[in-house]
Amino acid sequence: MNNIIEETKFLLKKYNIKANKSLGQNFLINEDVISEIISCSNLNKNDLVIEIGPGLGTLTKFLLEKAGKVICIELDHKMVDILNDRFYLYDNFKILNADVLKTDLSRLISEEKSNPNIKNAKIVSNLPYYITTPIIMKLLEEKLDLESITVMIQKEVADRLTAIPGSKDCGAITYSVYYYSIAEKIFEVPSSSFIPEPEVVSEVIKLNIRKSPAVSVKDEKLFFKIIKNSFMQRRKTLLNSLTNSQIFSSKEYGTKILNMLGLPINVRAENLSIEDFGRISDLLYLDLNETS
Ligand code: SAM
Repeated sequence: MNNIIEETKFLLKKYNIKANKSLGQNFLINEDVISEIISCSNLNKNDLVIEIGPGLGTLTKFLLEKAGKVICIELDHKMVDILNDRFYLYDNFKILNADVLKTDLSRLISEEKSNPNIKNAKIVSNLPYYITTPIIMKLLEEKLDLESITVMIQKEVADRLTAIPGSKDCGAITYSVYYYSIAEKIFEVPSSSFIPEPEVVSEVIKLNIRKSPAVSVKDEKLFFKIIKNSFMQRRKTLLNSLTNSQIFSSKEYGTKILNMLGLPINVRAENLSIEDFGRISDLLYLDLNETS
């Protein structure tokens, strides 16, 4: 048995804690996995790390040694009490008892970055799986001043987030992730690395935030609306999906757009590159703005 298993069991007993399933509490107990997460996060003393859901603080302890500052955001007040007990001697530790989805991360980062010692902000977390997608979308869509996002998530979700746009594993979210970042799979983590064991295999992924989006489009909102609606009815052709959702005003109009772009009439959403979606979006934008 390694020290982290002993430590986790000790903390659970000492504070009389049972993992709360509805908060996605699965505590990491594998030292090798923690070392790998720390190493692929590339941390130094100029980094601000935001850890979402620190739990008992197993990963936090290592983050505090490597980073300039660590801000933890934890919803469960019982965990917050434990973390305050454990880390009150660290002057680079801060904890917020809050729901990450309701936290103003942009303000948090800009406040910390006003300290000249802090040059980069990074997310490093073993995420609560029940809200993986809303957390990732918040981190990306709010255009936070982040360098990277290194997170442990469910493998199935990792496959979708890191798929190549235009390949069979992709969904609407693949294009969003690709638009904002360069995604890499780091390694798979078996369920035996946690207490209690989750029912799924996990995977650590890293999203390296792009300085500018993967494609330049005239109207970002329209671009993402088209992608979302294209994938809503996966089995349908793009022409049918976009006509049904009234993004194409008629089938004839949609056929004209696809012809102009040299795309086959029976093309499906998952066959399109991000540039193809960009071109559809820009053509529609020009049409809408010429006729209005
Ligand atoms: N980081 C710890 C570890 O690796 O052992 C715990 C990870 S556990 C998978 C997820 C953590 O997220 C739990 O501590 C849970 O209480 C916390 N959490 C759940 N929902 C949250 C939310 N909306 N905002 C912030 N933290 C949340």
